[in-house]
Amino acid sequence: MQLRYNFRLYPTAGQRESLARAFGCARTVFNDGLRLRHEAREQGLPYVSDGDLSKRLITEAKKTPERAWLGEVSAVLLQQALADLNTAYRNFFASATGRRKGPQMAPPRFRSRKDSRQSIRFTKNAKFKVTPAGRLRLPKIGDVPVRWSRRLPSQPSSVTVTKDTAGRYFASFVVQTSDEPLPEVSSEVGVDLGLTHFLVTSDGRKVDNPRFLRRAERRLRKAQQSLARKEKGSQNRKKAVVKVARAHAKVADARRDHAHKLSTQLIRDNQAVYVENLSVSGLARTRLAKSVHDAGWSQFTTMLAYKATLHGRTFARIDRWFPSSRRCSACGVIAGRMPLDVREWTCGCGVTHDRDHNAAKNILAAGRAERRNACGDQAGPDSGPAPVVEAGTHSTLPASAALQGRIPPVRREGCQDAGHALEDRDGRS
Ligand SMILES: [Zn+2]
Repeated sequence: MQLRYNFRLYPTAGQRESLARAFGCARTVFNDGLRLRHEAREQGLPYVSDGDLSKRLITEAKKTPERAWLGEVSAVLLQQALADLNTAYRNFFASATGRRKGPQMAPPRFRSRKDSRQSIRFTKNAKFKVTPAGRLRLPKIGDVPVRWSRRLPSQPSSVTVTKDTAGRYFASFVVQTSDEPLPEVSSEVGVDLGLTHFLVTSDGRKVDNPRFLRRAERRLRKAQQSLARKEKGSQNRKKAVVKVARAHAKVADARRDHAHKLSTQLIRDNQAVYVENLSVSGLARTRLAKSVHDAGWSQFTTMLAYKATLHGRTFARIDRWFPSSRRCSACGVIAGRMPLDVREWTCGCGVTHDRDHNAAKNILAAGRAERRNACGDQAGPDSGPAPVVEAGTHSTLPASAALQGRIPPVRREGCQDAGHALEDRDGRS
């Protein structure tokens, strides 16, 4: 499996200058390509091919006075910028014609100097390498100091260098790793991702967002409020923008660390992990809450997916075709309306449920049933109560499919790393 390994870089002042130039050149070539295709389209000309684009915007452009400075950076990173553009176009076309699943992709957009993330990519033929002294040698940039937090398992096939809004530099190596199957265990677990807790498992474990994350989030909120009060264009505003960016970065780091720890534990301790399909359950949640939590949830489930693949475990997202908080996991009856502040309830069958724990149990039951069906067996009477469909809501929609034993959409995300999924434009996911 291909994974990304990320490390912090500490470029010198001179290297930062070279990097800024490289970011700028990559951005220019990307935007030139986008503009050329836009213009061709407006004039009713055919789509400019990838090869044509490369010839006109790199090889020939370097010979013109306006673009001569492209020669100051490695040609590979310019080619990679165009490769990004081509992938963005392909994804957009595939999405528009329905060949690509998932949310609709937007057409590629112009990149700006003010974008939150500047990046360049070097492939093997760019002759980047890790020097014996442990620095990252980048063509026309130099030997950049790296903080190595772990060993690279193999020779990387590419490296992406980024600068975030907080002014930090990172190297993200793509490496091939071999699978490391873990010894089989018998336990399986359903996971409810929630608002009151980060997650609750079907075996009754509740995990909150850790205190350091909540503290970082509080600091971010304060920084954002302070920024909102600053006058536009003022020096103080500029400083406040940097503060917000740093606070953002802290929150993102804390969230990722937490997600890594949890996902590793869940995959290690269970043979199968089932999580609700968030795009479905999201309908039931408020917009605000969803926007806050969505990023964290998808990062977490992405980690579960790749770690499951890596370690020979099963991971599946379960479509919720029933209201899993209101369905009694003991008898299958669906309770009446249940506002979010109801944390505990008692079913007519006499069982008292913790709201989230009950939901997690339902997710586990659904995951097991789907897995059995996927294996070709009929779900026997011991598979728990049949899914009961509540009439009159959108949840009735996939019901018939569910009762026919439809296989849940198991999305395998093969190529992720430690935190950052390989982006689509890398063309590998
Ligand atoms: Zn009951």
